[in-house]
Amino acid sequence: MKKYLLIVLSIGVLFSSCTKKVNENSNPLLAKYDTPFEVPPFEKIKTEHFAPAFDSAMVLHKAEMEAIMTNPEEPTFENTIEASFYAGELLGKVASVFGTFNSVNISDSLQMLAQEIYPKLSTHSDEISLDLRFWERVKIVYANKEKFNLNAEQAFLLESVYKGFVRNGANLPEDKKEELMKINQELSTIALTAEQNILSEVNQYKLVIDNEKDLAGLPESSIQAAAEEAINDSLTGKWVFTLNKPSLIPFLNYAENRDLRRDIYNAYVNQGNNNDDKDNKALMAQMINLRVKRAKLLGYDSHAAYKIEGRMAQNPDRAIELLTKLWGGILPKVQQERNDLQSVISKEGGNFKLEPSDWFYYTEKLRKEKYNIDESEVRPYFKLENVREGAFSVANKLYGITFTEINNVPLPNPEATAFEVKEADGTFIGLLFTDFHPRASKRGGAWCGSFRDHSITKEGKEIKPLVTLVCNFTRPSGDTPALLSVDEVETLFHEFGHALDGLFAKTSYPASDIAWDFVELPSQIMEHWAYEPEVLKMYAHHYQTGEVIPEELITKLKESGNFNQGFALTEVLAASLLDLKLHALTEPVENLNVMDFEKEYLNSIGLIPEIYSRYRSTYFRHIMGGYDAGYYAYTWASVLDNDAFEAFKETSLFDQTTAKSFRENVLAMNGIKDAMEMFVAFRGREPKIDALLKNYGIK
Ligand SMILES: [Zn+2]
Repeated sequence: MKKYLLIVLSIGVLFSSCTKKVNENSNPLLAKYDTPFEVPPFEKIKTEHFAPAFDSAMVLHKAEMEAIMTNPEEPTFENTIEASFYAGELLGKVASVFGTFNSVNISDSLQMLAQEIYPKLSTHSDEISLDLRFWERVKIVYANKEKFNLNAEQAFLLESVYKGFVRNGANLPEDKKEELMKINQELSTIALTAEQNILSEVNQYKLVIDNEKDLAGLPESSIQAAAEEAINDSLTGKWVFTLNKPSLIPFLNYAENRDLRRDIYNAYVNQGNNNDDKDNKALMAQMINLRVKRAKLLGYDSHAAYKIEGRMAQNPDRAIELLTKLWGGILPKVQQERNDLQSVISKEGGNFKLEPSDWFYYTEKLRKEKYNIDESEVRPYFKLENVREGAFSVANKLYGITFTEINNVPLPNPEATAFEVKEADGTFIGLLFTDFHPRASKRGGAWCGSFRDHSITKEGKEIKPLVTLVCNFTRPSGDTPALLSVDEVETLFHEFGHALDGLFAKTSYPASDIAWDFVELPSQIMEHWAYEPEVLKMYAHHYQTGEVIPEELITKLKESGNFNQGFALTEVLAASLLDLKLHALTEPVENLNVMDFEKEYLNSIGLIPEIYSRYRSTYFRHIMGGYDAGYYAYTWASVLDNDAFEAFKETSLFDQTTAKSFRENVLAMNGIKDAMEMFVAFRGREPKIDALLKNYGIK
């Protein structure tokens, strides 16, 4: 399941607003939105409107930035930082609509346009963010920050802008800047090559089965897909399984042939590690070493220190400390899980030791034996509309807010629905748009985005947010309404949590800086309500009979949810710790062999041999670019959401004081205040791991 915030267009903290008017005549993107709530006039916007609108908006943005940079007055927070936040409003608006179309109204012509537009935007963004004249002004403002009487939000954002420049090397002497650019280029080439190597290994591997007996245990859908794959590969009459998850996972879960399971699993865990021309070991070593070099150049001890600064964890030691505590707690549980699986083998008369490639198969056997839960039994209680109303009711009980469907606003797609969101006293908060089902013009996954974020204009007018929640859930079919799976219910609550974060935002400027290891707290915490028995009884009603979900099914859901959690957490923690350790090196290591490093390190902390790290060094895509020294953030966020939810458990599920504090200290402040300060303001202390351990059944 994909869970992420859609960043419609990552144009950084510098971009997003202005007040001048441009060519209002014929291009709806350039005119003032003459619609209720100033929702973008989606129906009037055609593909051909985008290119000219982008051109005008970029020219305008440049002019606005030029005016800031050539301002003869002494740089101040207002005439430099604040002015840059307000610059580019039009560009932000155009980009937001384009981003929306490019995810929910995709067409060939739009995709072609995107290939043209995005590089242009990236150049535009570079030209502005690399302009030394702006940096010079930022430095002066920063040096004189005490003079400006900044409020907490302004001080936080100034820090973030300044740090952004420094982290990109703005303070380095010219020769070092060149060295930095060279390293950056080398790193991006290495990442690309490593990714391509993995892709080609995945595409190359095929498990071809020609004896029907070897399919024993597999579900019909999986066999069917393998037969189709074989036809595509000109192997008609045979069955082909690949390393892609939809093919691999059912095979590992259900195929009775142990040797074949081992074969495909070994191929999976050795991507990029086959000592051939697609081998990634040397590339990864180079990557790790170059990152240390870059960190040193920028004045940091290690790449991890560079990456984690400014996040909630602040430094690698704190992240490692937290993961290590969890690790200590989960090891006994995962050892128990291993013993349980070994017992299944013995009971069946198997005379062998459980191997990594056996884990999935015996887990599924045990799951069936213990819980016997069938999804088709559960789905009738999860009619989409009921689940949606369930999420709305939870928000209503927590925050008093209401959701009313409205029909008078433009919709990004005819399948979307708009809701007006109001406070208990009727004050307008913003709009929520939902769009739930897959279609050819929509990209996959589930996300929460916005057409407009909360801000206050230069003139002091409050701009209310327009938030969008997009999913790809099971469609209604025939007379049957859309009945969601357990995962889909969780996803709906998750994305709804992001939506509440957007609706409650109190940002003053079209700028914010959300700590990357904090971003999933508002969403993951909502998942806890979804399966609370009290909440299930509110919304999980049978779509035909209206019967409330039976107690027995609630218990089954809860118990099966806890099953195999030791394994799940262990493999993620192993990968997170490995990522941090690799990036905590303080000097380049000659002849670094990443696989040896991985083995030695994970052995030293007691990883049991029946489990591998969720991703191993040669195919750990997260650390090839973007999530490097950052994979821990998923677990970090779990600590936060479990601990934060515990505050409700300690009082009551809908405790009004706790809810008010969560809204005011966390949801309203996200991106405009230090994340740890937010958490402490809510919880009265720093996060603790106890609640997470308890929910994993460890404590
Ligand atoms: Zn998310």
